[in-house]
Amino acid sequence: MEAIRAAILQGAPPAEIANLPLPEAYRAVVVRKGDVEAWAGVPAADRDPAKGLHIDEAPLPPLAADEVYLAVMASSLNYTTVWSAISHPVPTFGFLRRLGEPHDRPYHQVGSDAAGVVIRAGAGVRRWKVGDRVVVNPNQVDAEDPSAARVWGYETNFGGLAELAVVRASQLMPKPAHLTWEEAASVSLCASTAYRMVVSRNGAGMKQGDIVLVWGATGGVGGFATQFVLNGGGRPVGVVSSPERAARLRELGCEHVIDRVAEGYRFWRDEHNQDESEWRRLGARIRELAGADPDIVVEHPGRETMGASVYVTRRGGTIVTCAATSGYLLQIDNRHLWMRQKRLVGSNLADPVEANAANDLIGRGVIRPTLSTVYPLDRTPEAARDMRDNRHAGKLGVLCLAPRAGLGVEA
Ligand code: NAP
Repeated sequence: MEAIRAAILQGAPPAEIANLPLPEAYRAVVVRKGDVEAWAGVPAADRDPAKGLHIDEAPLPPLAADEVYLAVMASSLNYTTVWSAISHPVPTFGFLRRLGEPHDRPYHQVGSDAAGVVIRAGAGVRRWKVGDRVVVNPNQVDAEDPSAARVWGYETNFGGLAELAVVRASQLMPKPAHLTWEEAASVSLCASTAYRMVVSRNGAGMKQGDIVLVWGATGGVGGFATQFVLNGGGRPVGVVSSPERAARLRELGCEHVIDRVAEGYRFWRDEHNQDESEWRRLGARIRELAGADPDIVVEHPGRETMGASVYVTRRGGTIVTCAATSGYLLQIDNRHLWMRQKRLVGSNLADPVEANAANDLIGRGVIRPTLSTVYPLDRTPEAARDMRDNRHAGKLGVLCLAPRAGLGVEA
């Protein structure tokens, strides 16, 4: 990989890169199949993601006709990798077994974002060629079943947290030229997810002037959702958990900020019962800040917040959800949903059209990366732990072949 790294850093022409030999192996962040059983009996909350990830030498996988080998300059942390690392809610090896060869291996090369350079293209690849600088849409559509899509590097092998990744050509998008490698690698998954949730008709289809409650508004999904709301003429009400994050959110341009810790919301009275007076208190606070109930709620914490989200949404409004970080068995008061004709919409990643639309907006500089910390590849386990413990703000970048941060800007 050293020769490939050097050639890319020196700006070698595509023909030179195409003539470099491929490595027999490369460094990759993996989950080992043998580790899965060790988690048996350990509650998910006590599983340390750092213990589930290893930096191993991975052998070069085969390349299909519709795929490329990507020399990965940088990647970023997503929750997919936390879930893979702790084998929760399911071990990811089941996905790989069902997908079959060559994905079904005793290791899982994880990671669902990447920015890098195409170093080989399969025989059937038309649009992309060696030397192209690209980012990856992590939504891998199943060409044999249009209703199915997979998260690359979570439900497939050979993902982005490595020096080399295998990517379907249909997932590639041009790297925004003005971004560094690590900035470019930090946007695709969360920005495209937020685009579908907020902007697309497949999600909430936000209109000008809509009030949008965004949970975790400085996090991965939330940081981009807030920007899409502002960019589309909506009015975000962002929820965060510290004064530092409140300041960061204001810097993004969000005027209405709720610090959920400082304001002490406790939506669950005990393990089984929620406290509707706390839902009302949140609703009153949103009205006080924004002047009305939210037209849209961007949901992803799940169990902790969904009851409140359904309650505070205005009559006829939309709750759009892509996750359940705090637990997926939800409790809502359904009367608030049906009597007030609200919609609860499930949303997963983004289709290729949505992902490219989001990437275009990033390329034009109207949606900005939210990178806060950058780790070298061998500290990825620590980064995953920080993410699970909610110690980070924005996105966490990982340098793969890039020797340091700040490289890769073309314009
Ligand atoms: P992230 O960067 O960790 O941000 C999540 C934010 O949620 C945190 O910053 C935190 O903000 C807030 N949060 C965490 N626990 C909370 C709780 N109990 N109550 C209220 N807020 C809480 O993660 P992310 O990348 O945005 O991902 C968020 C979730 O979406 C993950 O579960 C991930 O797997 C999922 N996801 C799904 C898709 C999809 O397409 N289905 C795509 C991307 C991500 P504060 O503490 O500041 O409030």
